[in-house]
Amino acid sequence: MKRIFNKLNGDIIIINNKGDILFCNEVFLKKLGYKQDDIIKNNINNILYNREDIDYIKKENNIDLLFYKKTKEIVRFNCDIIIDFFEEKESIFILCKEVSKSYTIEDLENLLDNIPIGLWIKDIDGKYLYSNSYLAGLANKEKEKMVGNYDIDNFKDEYAYLYKEVDEEIINTKKPRLLEEIIRVNGMDREFETYKAPILGKNEDVVYTVGATRDISLRKKIEEQVFNNHNQISTLHNILNRSNRDIKGLLENVCDELLKSLSSDGISIWLYDKDKKELKLYIRRGYFASSLHEGIIKLDTDKMRWELLNEISDGLKGISEVSYMDIYEEMKSDGVKYLGIYKIKLRDDNIGILTIPYNDDNQPPEYDQSNFIKAICSQMAILIKNLKLTDEIKIENNKRSNTERELALFLETAVDLVGVIGEDGYFKKANSKWSEVLGWTEEELMNINLKNLLHPEDRKKVLQVKDFKEGSKFRKNVKYRYLNKSGKYTWLYIGSKYVEEKKHFLVTGRDITKEMYAEEQTKKLEKVIEIESLKNEFFSNISHEFKTPLNIILGSMQLLNQSIDKNSITTEKLINHINTIKQNSYRLLRLVNNLIDISKIETGYYELQLSNNNIVSIIEDITLSVVNYVECKNINLIFDTDTECEILACDPDKIERVMLNLLSNAIKYTGEYGEIIVSLKSDNKKVIVSVKDNGTGIPKDKIGIIFDRFGQVNDALIKRREGSGIGLSLVKSLVEMHGGSIRVESEVNIGSEFIFEIPISLIEDEEVTILDKNLRGSQIEKCNIEFSDIYNI
Ligand code: ADP
Repeated sequence: MKRIFNKLNGDIIIINNKGDILFCNEVFLKKLGYKQDDIIKNNINNILYNREDIDYIKKENNIDLLFYKKTKEIVRFNCDIIIDFFEEKESIFILCKEVSKSYTIEDLENLLDNIPIGLWIKDIDGKYLYSNSYLAGLANKEKEKMVGNYDIDNFKDEYAYLYKEVDEEIINTKKPRLLEEIIRVNGMDREFETYKAPILGKNEDVVYTVGATRDISLRKKIEEQVFNNHNQISTLHNILNRSNRDIKGLLENVCDELLKSLSSDGISIWLYDKDKKELKLYIRRGYFASSLHEGIIKLDTDKMRWELLNEISDGLKGISEVSYMDIYEEMKSDGVKYLGIYKIKLRDDNIGILTIPYNDDNQPPEYDQSNFIKAICSQMAILIKNLKLTDEIKIENNKRSNTERELALFLETAVDLVGVIGEDGYFKKANSKWSEVLGWTEEELMNINLKNLLHPEDRKKVLQVKDFKEGSKFRKNVKYRYLNKSGKYTWLYIGSKYVEEKKHFLVTGRDITKEMYAEEQTKKLEKVIEIESLKNEFFSNISHEFKTPLNIILGSMQLLNQSIDKNSITTEKLINHINTIKQNSYRLLRLVNNLIDISKIETGYYELQLSNNNIVSIIEDITLSVVNYVECKNINLIFDTDTECEILACDPDKIERVMLNLLSNAIKYTGEYGEIIVSLKSDNKKVIVSVKDNGTGIPKDKIGIIFDRFGQVNDALIKRREGSGIGLSLVKSLVEMHGGSIRVESEVNIGSEFIFEIPISLIEDEEVTILDKNLRGSQIEKCNIEFSDIYNI
């Protein structure tokens, strides 16, 4: 049957007793511009201009019905009503014929009465020939009572006079006028935009005046609010200081005004959350689908996203048109019949949507407000975008101030010293720990250059910018001494980092004074232990050195005693014993002398008896005095000098001690038929004396210790010689007391060369001491003592 109906040329629509559409043939669908899905199962009243009572329709045989086309255009049909069975149920068959004349005068009047614009026609005297309901409403009168009256009868005097004035003007000028006026309606001042025009007759005379007036309060209000808001948020300062609530408040006001003006059942602003793919309720007024209590429309499906964010053409939709929305069913059962959906978009940026629901009780306005709402939406888009930006700026700002606060807190609470030092060496920031540790106030610290804060010896440790640029950016663990306010230095363990963008150094430090003190104490303790063990070594050494000659002396004495007792001693034996006793007494004397000297030097009681002397003759004389000793070993002793006379301030006794020590060692460690060369050179500033032998030499690793006390080289290969091992340490001290220095060059089995230098200086106003040659005796005595451990004298 459906197929037959579809083939018919006539328009057929079949409904059940409730008005639900069961069938609509294709011809009729095409005429109205719907698809089957759009209307099937929907109530016929959804596509009828006037709500009709279905029972009433059922009773009529023929009836005129006004249908909405999909385009919202209204078309009048003359319909035959037949009650018959459709799909085995009693149904109402509506057979429609389009009425060629769309509107009657009543229709027009009806239409004019339903738009929120005041309309009228007056004759040239100002008598009303026509007024629509809206205008009558403004005058608080019945429509019919307006007609035949004048403004003075219909409106308050002050308005009436004004209207009359304008009417006269347009009649005289024969030109229309557009004006804005404020009218008090129901105790509220509202703004109206009024258009008045003269209608000319055949003779170009004005025969009527017509007019239209519409309430523009809302537009004005919104324009004003948006404008004010724009001004207020246009400066960054305002953006940061203006609370978002203000902007939200403004948008809420706009929504309130819209709700009132559109007489809708609700209005909501939804903001799009790109990440979560959802629309989140931002502002809500009036009706709201209860399933949306969380205020979220999930845009899970591409269709939803597409429909709501891209596809929808802004405007009023029949509820069936938004069946893709998840809240469709609920809105439908809540009685929502139309839903206005408008995108809030700034260029391509989806900001959100504005929804305006209408339910049964409130007819949606038939005239098109879309453009106006769209304009509001674009203003809203700007506001909300600003709001979002403000939020972002605020969040950023907060983050920054939070970090700054945290940093400040960190600086304050850090156990370590934390500071920022500029490239100029001045502190830019320093936590309170610096003051605590160094005693300087923050202000004082900021005014002292790092150079002056550091111990002079530590200054060179400070890295320059280029070091950081070239090397690693972070330098850790360097110990510096920082000047304390008390004048002392505090040890700080400093780590530093150069921040190139900021051109400053970030410095962290730790007070290690206590640790350094502990370290120092440990070192001192170690030193004491070392000295203690050296002393022990020394005493065991010394006791051996003492014991040997003493034993020999005692032994010789014993032998002598025995021989005397037996009366069997020969003169030769007697001399031998006496010599042995003498030699060993010298050895003891030498040892005691050396020990006394060393301890004197150490305690600071050793003083030089300085006088101006010819050093050349001192060296030469002492060298020659040992000739006897070298001859026994067939050693060739050579003295060589490039100057005969070099006068300098020295203690001749001590120079002799130095020379005798070096010579006795040279003889001791040089084999028979060896060679010892004593040479002297002078360069006007200093005298350089060298004692060179071709003896055993000194192993390399021992060279470093021979000038230390007890630095005797003990090597299995080198036969332990007699000696205390304190000779060279005494030599070194004596040379140094003269302001000079000593060094050795030696190679095992090749020989050794001891070189000492004495600076040439003179004691003013003092004559040169000429050494008495008669003192030779005492010199021999000295030799005997010094050489006592080598030879039998
Ligand atoms: P000692 O009284 O034991 O000779 P010294 O202080 O005079 O003590 O010498 C220290 C050590 O230096 C000696 O034990 C020896 O090993 C080494 N030494 C000194 N002079 C020479 C030298 N001319 N040739 C080789 N070794 C030497």
